[in-house]
Amino acid sequence: MEKEKLLYEGKAKRVYETEDPGLLIVSYKDDATAFNGLKKGSISGKGVINNHMSNLLMKRLEKRGIPTHFVKELSSRDTLVKRVSIVPLEVIVRNRAAGSFSQRYGVEEGFLFQSPTLEFSYKNDALGDPLLNTSHALALGLATGVELETIKRYSLAVNQELKAIWEKCGITLVDFKLEFGRDPQGSVLLADEISPDTCRLWDTSTGEKLDKDRFRRDLGKVEEAYEEVMKRLETEYSE
Ligand code: UDP
Repeated sequence: MEKEKLLYEGKAKRVYETEDPGLLIVSYKDDATAFNGLKKGSISGKGVINNHMSNLLMKRLEKRGIPTHFVKELSSRDTLVKRVSIVPLEVIVRNRAAGSFSQRYGVEEGFLFQSPTLEFSYKNDALGDPLLNTSHALALGLATGVELETIKRYSLAVNQELKAIWEKCGITLVDFKLEFGRDPQGSVLLADEISPDTCRLWDTSTGEKLDKDRFRRDLGKVEEAYEEVMKRLETEYSE
């Protein structure tokens, strides 16, 4: 399958049409942005790592009964995915306090929750992805009640599976962001990516941050962190 026409260029990926109208090619870049595009940079080798890592994780989730857009890894940076229309919601699942949660509620980073939290934000760069609840999402017609229930159920199931996977790698899954899409039949599929760009991953024994916070907060050793996470995942889950 070949790339035909650039459909969309985002902050970290390009999306191309293919000869099959139902399939797209996602191509992962090394570009990194943070704070709604205010901070820009590049993380050398990130695209290759995120492509492979996201595919590995999506395959494991499929095995657990969570439908995803993944079809086939085509090359080190390119993956064939099902074409979906993205539900304009970012779904954030948290196991511990960090980032915007810690700031908003005045809770120390790392505080362990009794049970995971789930929140939505409206995927809208111009508005800075504002937080919204399910009644807001319904009022704005962003998704139906049934879709929201499915999205919540899948997101919590994804958390259970990802937590277990990362635990095996000696990594604590603090929080992550998911995006979902609708296929032409109207089914909800997990889309976008799962990578250190979209998850907070801490070394369980040292507490060291092994994710995009190293870039956001200028902690250094950004490339090394992405490589370390990939290496641990490959060691435990090589196919
Ligand atoms: N996240 C993301 N994209 C976004 C916002 C958040 O991938 O546009 C991820 C982020 O990497 C973290 C989780 O979602 O793993 C929770 O992020 P938070 O709401 O704490 O926001 P932040 O502190 O990153 O602004």
